[in-house]
Amino acid sequence: MRKELEAIVGAAALDERAVRDLWPLGLMQERDGAERPRVLVARPAGREQVIAILRWAGANAVAVTPMGGASGVCGALAPRTGELVLDMGGFDRILALDEVNLTCTCESGVNGMVLEKQLNERGLTLGHFPSSLPGTTVGGLIATRSSGQESSRYGSIEDMVLSLAVVLPDGTFAAPRPGPRSAVGPALHQLWLGSEGALGVVLGAVLRVHRLPELVVGRGYAFKNLQAGLEAMRAVMQSGIRPLVMRLYDAEDTVFSGYDVPADACVLVVATAGLAEVAKAEAAAVQRFAAGGTDLGEEPWHRWEAHRFSLSAERLKALLDPPGAYVDTIELAAPWTVLPELHAQVKSAIAVGGLALCHFSHAYQQGCCAYFSFGGSADTEAEARAAYGRAWEGAMTAALDLGATISHHHGTGQVRARWVADEMGGWMHVWRGVKEGIDPRRTMNPRALGGTS
Ligand SMILES: Cc1cc2nc3c(=O)[nH]c(=O)nc-3n(C[C@H](O)[C@H](O)[C@H](O)COP(=O)(O)OP(=O)(O)OC[C@H]3O[C@@H](n4cnc5c(N)ncnc54)[C@H](O)[C@@H]3O)c2cc1C
Repeated sequence: MRKELEAIVGAAALDERAVRDLWPLGLMQERDGAERPRVLVARPAGREQVIAILRWAGANAVAVTPMGGASGVCGALAPRTGELVLDMGGFDRILALDEVNLTCTCESGVNGMVLEKQLNERGLTLGHFPSSLPGTTVGGLIATRSSGQESSRYGSIEDMVLSLAVVLPDGTFAAPRPGPRSAVGPALHQLWLGSEGALGVVLGAVLRVHRLPELVVGRGYAFKNLQAGLEAMRAVMQSGIRPLVMRLYDAEDTVFSGYDVPADACVLVVATAGLAEVAKAEAAAVQRFAAGGTDLGEEPWHRWEAHRFSLSAERLKALLDPPGAYVDTIELAAPWTVLPELHAQVKSAIAVGGLALCHFSHAYQQGCCAYFSFGGSADTEAEARAAYGRAWEGAMTAALDLGATISHHHGTGQVRARWVADEMGGWMHVWRGVKEGIDPRRTMNPRALGGTS
C-alpha cells in the first residue's frame, strides 16, 4: 500500500500516524487506554493526485476518509487499521475573490479563520462562525453541513455554497457549475453538504460572501422565564428582522454564563447589523419585541463577543482530561411550538451528572436550534461511559418522539449512527441509492451518516 501511494504523492507526502476527530466518547475511550489505530495519511497536492488515489483505493478495496481540521465532534473521522486518510491541508489556496459579484473561490483545505480574515481585509465576510472556526477547513465545514453563530443573518453553510468542485470515488471530476442559480436539474452539489466524506472528496468551493456591516448594535435582555424569551425570539424572526446574533440562555445556562440576573431569569443576547440606520432601527424594533424583559444594556453583548471562541478544542480536551469526566453537546432543532417540551424532556434526559444546560440560537421563522450541554464526573471509566450513553439515548429518543431533528449542525458520524434511519425514514432509501450509485465499492468513509462498520 505504501509503495503504490508513494508513487502517487511521493514519500514526503505520506506518513503513518493516529488520526481522529474530537468525538468526546473517543477521547474518553483513549483516556481509558484504548489504542488509537495508526493509519497511512496521504497529503495530495493537486487534483490529479486525488483522482489517482481514489482510483487506486477503489481497485484495492481500501477505505478512504478525507480529513480537514479534525475538529468534528461526532466520530466521523475515525479510521481503522488498514484504511487511508486524505489530509486535504495541501489544498489551501484562495483562488479568487470577486468583489463585484461577491463570490470567493477557494480550495477545500483553506482554514476557516484564515479565509474570514482575508475577506475582512477587503471589507467582506463569509458570515460563517462556528465556535471552532480556527480549527476548521472549508471542506470540513461543507461535509458536516455546519452552522455558525451568525446564521440567523447569513444562513448556514448551505446558504453560502454556490457550487463545488468534487472528485467522485471512481475518479470523475465534477467542476463548479454556473451561478448564481440554475434550474438545470436539482442542485446536485448539495448532496455533498453533510455527506461526511461518504461520496468522494470536495476539492474546492465557490462561496457567496457579504459586505461587512457598517454598524453592529448588541444588547441583552432578561426574561422571567424561558417561554417569554422564546416568544421574543420568535417575534423578532417573524417580523422579518435577520439579527446578526440572537441567543437565549435557559436559567441554568444563564447562571453558568455568569450573567448577574435574578434567579430563574433567562438572558437573551441580540445584535442587529447592516447599514447604520438599518441596524439602529432594527435594534429599536428588537427592543419593542423584548419589552416583556428587562433591558440589560450592551454589557451582555460585549461579554458574549469576548468569549465567542472560548469553547475551543483545547478546552474540550482539558475538560475530558480528568479520569471519569464526561461532557458533550447535543444540538437539536424543532418548530417553535415544540421547543418548550423538547427543552423539558431533553434537560431531564441529560441530567445524568452535575451539568445540564441549554441555549437557543440559529433561529428561523419556523423554529430554532436548541443546543444542550451536559457533563459530570463518575467514579470509574465504565460509569462515565454509561452516563454519557444514557444522556445521548434519552436526548435522541425525546427528539425523535417529538419530531425534532437529531442534529442541527454537528452531523452524525458514529455518535448518532443508531438513530439516523429513524429520523430519515423513507429518505434513507434515497440516501442508500445515492451512496450505492456514487460509491458502489463503498470505499469512502465507512463511518459517515449512519455507517458504523
Ligand atoms: C469546540 C468546538 C466547537 C464547535 N462548534 C461548532 C459550531 O458552532 N458549529 C458547527 O457547525 N460545528 C461546530 N463544531 C464541529 C466542527 O468544528 C465542525 O463539524 C467542522 O465543520 C468540522 O470541520 P473540519 O475541517 O475540522 O472537518 P473534519 O473534522 O476534518 O472532518 C469532518 C467530516 O468531514 C469530512 N471531510 C473533511 N474534509 C473533506 C473534504 N475536503 N471532502 C470531503 N469530506 C471531507 C471528513 O471525512 C469527516 O467526515 C465544533 C467543534 C468543536 C471541537
